[in-house]
Amino acid sequence: MFNLFKKGKPCTTVPGGKSLRLWVEEALESKVAIGHFNISNIEGFWAVVRAAEVVSHEAGRQIPVIIGVSEGERDFVGVSQVRSLVDSYRAQTGNPVFLNADHTYSFERVKEVVDAGYDAFIYDGTEQSFDENVSATRKCVQYARSVAKAQGRDILIEAEIGFIGKSSKVLDGIPEGVKISEEFLTKPDEARAFAVATGIDMIAPAVGNIHGMLKGGKDPALNIARVSEISKATSLPLVLHGGSGNSADDFRLAIDAGVAIIHVNTELRVAFRDALLAQVSAHPDEVAPYKIMRPTVEAMQKVIEEKLRTFNKVR
Ligand SMILES: [Zn+2]
Repeated sequence: MFNLFKKGKPCTTVPGGKSLRLWVEEALESKVAIGHFNISNIEGFWAVVRAAEVVSHEAGRQIPVIIGVSEGERDFVGVSQVRSLVDSYRAQTGNPVFLNADHTYSFERVKEVVDAGYDAFIYDGTEQSFDENVSATRKCVQYARSVAKAQGRDILIEAEIGFIGKSSKVLDGIPEGVKISEEFLTKPDEARAFAVATGIDMIAPAVGNIHGMLKGGKDPALNIARVSEISKATSLPLVLHGGSGNSADDFRLAIDAGVAIIHVNTELRVAFRDALLAQVSAHPDEVAPYKIMRPTVEAMQKVIEEKLRTFNKVR
């Protein structure tokens, strides 16, 4: 059987010598998914790593997590500062926490995160034509591979075909330009041609998923048959974006069909906002930021723990 996903090697720059590629390989084999959670601030960071600690303890094994930062999120936290945060946590605990540059729309911004030492990035050329997306993705792949080789480390590269919307917010309806009926989903043969032409490691398809979350918290069901077809056609791990609002059953089916990483952002943003509003209105005289913000960490952590249990089949 052909396999476009390159085998991982032990690496000295990551906890326990186990790179994100090796974790992804293992996730595919054991049919679990690695949780990818976006952060915008230190509260988000602690919510992710503490949730992973709790669920690792419950599972009796290390549960890896990926911290995601979009262009806007990493500009707010600091492109290299968030890298240092993850590094210092990894050095102190040895826990498998990885850093991903989520949706990155230009080569310049890809270069920035590759140079800053991120473990993974997503080049998002979904608003370009297929051919433009291929050539822009190839440029990013070539640069990242050469830097990774020179530094003796690994970088996982993800790209997308099929448009699922852009914003991580609560939506009144399906985002403009996103079509979830079958003919608009990512086509397996196109995904394979894209993977072969670009040399990427992972592919983010449109399989009925949407960025953001519909009001009421329930998104349309995923097209699991399509997930499975794309997985077989590409032989690459699939990354499911827009995981907010999808059901635990849908996640389990998608994982069994070849999804190795699942992104969640909007549900965390909602948990953060709700906890903050509640805390400020309950204690309007409180001015210590760490007291005001503490419930936001707890609220996001709770959401992440539950997702990690589902993704990693921990019960
Ligand atoms: Zn996404």
